[in-house]
Amino acid sequence: MKSRDSKRIELICSIAELSSLFHGEKGTQRFLQKVVKTVSRHMKSDVCSIYLYDEKLKRLNLVATEGLNRELTGNLSLEYGEGLVGTAIKEMRTILEADGTLHPRFKRIDNSFEENFKAFLAVPITRGLNRIGVLVLQHSQKGYFDHMEARALEAIAGQLAATLENARLLMDISRKEQEEITPGQTESRLIKGKKVVEGVAQGLICFMDDSHKAGNLSDEDLKSYKDGVDAFRESLKTAEGQLLELQERMDEELSDIASMIFSAHLLMLQDESFSGQMIRLIEEGMPACMAVERVVNSFVEIFAGSENSRLQEKVQDVRDLGHRLLRNLSIKEQPQGNYRNQIIIAGDLLPSELLKLTAQKAEGIVLMGGGASAHISILAKSLGVPLIYVEDESVLRLPEYTDIILDANQGNLIVLPDRETRERYEKLSQTAREIKQLSQSVLDQTYTADGERVYLRAAVNLLNDVKTARELKAEGVGLYRSEFPFLIRSDFPSEEEQYRVYSKVFEGMENHPVTLRTLDVGGDKILSYMPENQGDNPFLGLRAIRFLLQNKKVFVGQLKAMLRAGEGQDLRIMFPLISSLDDYRAAKRMVRKSMEFLDRDGMSYNRNPKLGIMVELPSAVMLIDQLTAEADFLSIGTNDLVQYLLGVDRTNSSVASFYQGEHPAVLRAVKTVVEGARKNNCAFSVCGNLTNDLGLIYFFLGVGIRSFSIEPHQLPQLQRFISRVDIKKAEKDSAKILTLTSVEEVKEYIKRVLPS
Ligand code: PEP
Ligand code: MG
Repeated sequence: MKSRDSKRIELICSIAELSSLFHGEKGTQRFLQKVVKTVSRHMKSDVCSIYLYDEKLKRLNLVATEGLNRELTGNLSLEYGEGLVGTAIKEMRTILEADGTLHPRFKRIDNSFEENFKAFLAVPITRGLNRIGVLVLQHSQKGYFDHMEARALEAIAGQLAATLENARLLMDISRKEQEEITPGQTESRLIKGKKVVEGVAQGLICFMDDSHKAGNLSDEDLKSYKDGVDAFRESLKTAEGQLLELQERMDEELSDIASMIFSAHLLMLQDESFSGQMIRLIEEGMPACMAVERVVNSFVEIFAGSENSRLQEKVQDVRDLGHRLLRNLSIKEQPQGNYRNQIIIAGDLLPSELLKLTAQKAEGIVLMGGGASAHISILAKSLGVPLIYVEDESVLRLPEYTDIILDANQGNLIVLPDRETRERYEKLSQTAREIKQLSQSVLDQTYTADGERVYLRAAVNLLNDVKTARELKAEGVGLYRSEFPFLIRSDFPSEEEQYRVYSKVFEGMENHPVTLRTLDVGGDKILSYMPENQGDNPFLGLRAIRFLLQNKKVFVGQLKAMLRAGEGQDLRIMFPLISSLDDYRAAKRMVRKSMEFLDRDGMSYNRNPKLGIMVELPSAVMLIDQLTAEADFLSIGTNDLVQYLLGVDRTNSSVASFYQGEHPAVLRAVKTVVEGARKNNCAFSVCGNLTNDLGLIYFFLGVGIRSFSIEPHQLPQLQRFISRVDIKKAEKDSAKILTLTSVEEVKEYIKRVLPS
């Protein structure tokens, strides 16, 4: 029996090794070859092959092999379901055969040298629900592979999936590319937009879309860049170094969501059809900056025109690389390798793109047109980057690098500000610093003026927020939005990855309670790897608990990670968008199932987590007596409760004025929930944006709510406010508010009675 070198298996499973495979290799083909060689060496197999799946043609193509006839690479193609390899992809399952050649589905390939190999192991490479390809091992000795090997190869396939998908995209694009490669204002003014994430930033305009660019670089522009192949290679090398450094820093700072976010950049940078094509054009006499622009534009055109949403997502990566290469080629002093002192103007951004831009120090973001999805705004808030959105298309006609101030407190853009305006804004950021200093006086616990205990817990989106939350003395996490690690990545994070992230939340919270909310995707929180069909009303579609109950594997994986991370801790698991007892009971059953799996695997975990629901739907309010009789706790999710109660899309700016927290129906619903919870001794709290409004906090205190999940940086201000509230008076005022029948009356009344 051969020795099993588990250390080596760990090694190949580590992202570090996989990424080092990129860095050493130029070109996708050679990279794939290196992968099969490395896997075959680590797994001590005679053969290792990779087949990539072509979704359109429904065929599997052999793209790299170690051990079979190399001449078949690029020439051997199997049908979906054909042979053992085709079966592995079709049925999305591992195939392990002591002697594959005896299997009725085995397909003999002429001239492959395959007849020498008996033991057969094929693992499908998938990302979420997508088929990427198949990883195959073969060996001359019958029965050479066992279940341990199968599991190891599955782990390797999981690690390689993202990379292989990128490789597949690049190969696709280079094929298409071979088919078709073709080559200001001076006055200060104000552009009005809408604020999404507050803050102020100053800098130069940097466009992420090229819709503003009429033509190519002008002759004048050409003088600003170095020229020649050597200069280009130098800028390429610099870009590579910059990206690696960025990746490392991101891994350290944002380990929960930053996994390999720059890997597509690196792979593309080294690809023949990208940088190789640039070099060829320069050698043919084209100025280096033009060659960059030409190739970038042709890639952008192909990606943007693709029907495949994954290819469309690459547009931003390509543009970003183009900017980077041009910056490195510039003879002017440039903020090397980042977007410091720049304000990004983009049509639309994905969470991963926002992350990349902030990692590269973008000062602020202006989104054009459609507005910001809930996740973009939540993420931007957690990353601390000011963001507005603007409909006025004149922004697109401003010359790149125009000086602007982004006043996201007001939602304005000030183009070419004069000195006086600048000074005014500098003062404004000073006030922000003063607020930060004030936060140092925050107390360990929060009490009202008449001594009622109140719990201020954090709403956490990124691990980053946990640190701020503890610094500001949050007494635990009241809402951990677990979807962020899912949103940024391009496939479902593994149970292990999730376990590590959740463990860090507990570590950071030092024994305080932590409420982990299970995945809330759907609505406008779309994972790029989720099935595309969201329906006409995604907020009424397969969202949150509904998605999880239909994707039980994802649900169980997440619950297992939560239960494990919460061992010995005050763990609370909360289910979003619960509409009925049936939803809650089904979710609870999944918790029990996850525990059974953990028991079966001999894992230790928290056997007594508290289980709770988010009250976000009118149906949950109607059924509050029954729900609170079974759930351990609840949190009123005000963002969605207002949306669903009033029928107002929370992301649609044209109906923003109808989205009213002071609506009597909202206030009465809150009161109903509190009464139901009290009757059944079910713990209750409030989360969502209504907690940013002191008037509503006053009302919530008055109806008996003592626990709030808030954005961490709101804590000092909220604690000070609560310390001025007299509960007896708040109770009377809230009772009166509940008798009012119009929004205006409610607002007026609150304004009058609010403690100053
Ligand atoms: C809410 O709906 O109030 C809430 C906190 O959840 P999310 O904003 O993540 O939907
Ligand atoms: Mg919600």
